Amino acid sequence: MEFFADWHTHSTYSDGRGTIEENIRAAVSRGLEELAITDHGPANIGVGVRGPESYLQIKDEIRKLNPQYDSISVKTGAEADITAPDGTVDLPRSIINELDIFIAGLHPYVWPSVINGVWSVVGINQAARFSRSAREKARVNNTKALKETVNRYNVDIVSHPDLRMPVDIPELAAACAAADTAIEINTGHHYDKSELVKNAAGEGVNFVVSSDAHFPATVGELEAGGLLLEKFGVPAERVVNARKSRS
Ligand SMILES: [Zn+2]
Ligand SMILES: [Zn+2]
Repeated sequence: MEFFADWHTHSTYSDGRGTIEENIRAAVSRGLEELAITDHGPANIGVGVRGPESYLQIKDEIRKLNPQYDSISVKTGAEADITAPDGTVDLPRSIINELDIFIAGLHPYVWPSVINGVWSVVGINQAARFSRSAREKARVNNTKALKETVNRYNVDIVSHPDLRMPVDIPELAAACAAADTAIEINTGHHYDKSELVKNAAGEGVNFVVSSDAHFPATVGELEAGGLLLEKFGVPAERVVNARKSRS
């Protein structure tokens, strides 16, 4: 499977080590036609952007850089954090509307937007490491929150489902399929994604393969995701950023 786009990369606006331009150069050298800069939302403790307005600065920088690189189209995106059980994310709609690519995902260390979120979004996932019943509870909470997010917002991609924070994959995949949201196969985080591919594929959802690059060197490093999808018989037609064979 070959890819024309990497829609999930981080820059120095959050915890990426490369500048936007360094990520662009890396993507160009990989032969990509599209790249998105998707820095972490402001609620991600210690790594998020300074504030929602940072995305306007990023967009402005991209607008200036785009004409300098003929072979690639650079998109402004965000990887928002889910900060409450009702699926609230850490970006206002006025900012989301400015984005080309909107990714939402669960992260273990976020500032919750509501008091009861401290336990149901953050605490339960910590307890899940030590207790089976907490793990089940976390799975229910995480799945519900993700589904709410997908239903409430125009989410293009759910990032790294089931990474450290358990989710009910078929349930999430069905919600994503209905909302036209892609499930991400994340090549930057090395965790077992076999169950994710196997169980999501049956729900008719589309996939996207992303590097989640935090260094320019790994921008566009998507091969492992393609191999995994092929292993489970997912065709390129179901992978949004895969090159489609011309007949
Ligand atoms: Zn992430
Ligand atoms: Zn990321």
